[in-house]
Amino acid sequence: MTSTEPLDISAEGTVPDETTAAIWRGDASITLEKLPIPILGAGEALVRIDLATVCGSDRHTVSGRRQQPCPSILGHETVGTLIAKSGRVVAIDGTELRLGQRLVWSVTFPCGSCDRCARGFTAKCRQVRKAGHEALDSGWALSGGYAEHVLLPSGMPIAVVDDDLPDELAAPAACGTATVMAVAERAGDLSGKRITIIGAGMLGLTAAAVAADAGAAAVVSIDVSDERRVLATQFGATRSVDSVSEAGTTDVLLEFSGSRAALQQGLALLDIGGTAVLAGSVAPDGLLQIDPESIVRNDTTVQGQHNYEPRHLVSALEFLARTARVFPWMQLVAPAKPMSELPRLLTGAPGLAPREAIRPW
Ligand SMILES: [Zn+2]
Ligand SMILES: [Zn+2]
Repeated sequence: MTSTEPLDISAEGTVPDETTAAIWRGDASITLEKLPIPILGAGEALVRIDLATVCGSDRHTVSGRRQQPCPSILGHETVGTLIAKSGRVVAIDGTELRLGQRLVWSVTFPCGSCDRCARGFTAKCRQVRKAGHEALDSGWALSGGYAEHVLLPSGMPIAVVDDDLPDELAAPAACGTATVMAVAERAGDLSGKRITIIGAGMLGLTAAAVAADAGAAAVVSIDVSDERRVLATQFGATRSVDSVSEAGTTDVLLEFSGSRAALQQGLALLDIGGTAVLAGSVAPDGLLQIDPESIVRNDTTVQGQHNYEPRHLVSALEFLARTARVFPWMQLVAPAKPMSELPRLLTGAPGLAPREAIRPW
């Protein structure tokens, strides 16, 4: 966020005059441009981007399927190194950050004081701003990860990345992995349960790994892609099938595909006391048919989850560190390319896996 406050006397590090960023100017227009780096206000931090992975939602923005402020710098799955800060900047756990630490930060930047923040729904803050979603003239121009630098405003939820955790694992933590942590929390204890997961993209694969790690009795992954079904078995799925009808009865249904038809079928798989958590439906896709009698008689729970809370970013990093050698996470991210290739990566045919990545330096 730009600030007119003078540089705090305790400011540390060097703030370059300008940065190169990939500016999205509407439709598929993405150009590399120089932007000034503002003087840091109190509590603000400047991060040099080490790696940014390309989330599918940015592809939807560029293709017009999703609306967001423009022109802007996209990118919200990012890991970077703290190179300058003004005054005290703290991580989510309250520890003070030091220059040179590798960081990830939340997609959502909440106000921390509205009624929704007070109720623990900070991702739904009434004044929420989002990394990689803010217009250049919004007062927070350097919000996105497709750039050499990002400016983190005072109060941004930030987490420190373990030295051992590769950039390729850390960058997606702030979108896919943390969202899956929030979904898993909603689903409750997964141990000993039969878990069915619709969709085996990055979120669905991560959910399979979480379920396996939690001691699920069975983890069934559903995806139409052969390639993804093979990957799912490497991420903890005990069975990988290509249609919902093959999945069998389940205790917990986790939906990441956004397909209403798949969800409709999936809900019918729930056993007595079953829980469905929906996370994939982030665009209009018609209405579900729900039989209220079956919801009542089967003691069914249906919940939704969008984005996540700061604690989920912390648990995402912990989970990735703990399972770094258990699951082949590196297979989910392609070798990083220079920022000049970003327009192609955002507009080219959607790859199923791995996720594309850029290194601006
Ligand atoms: Zn994302
Ligand atoms: Zn708020």
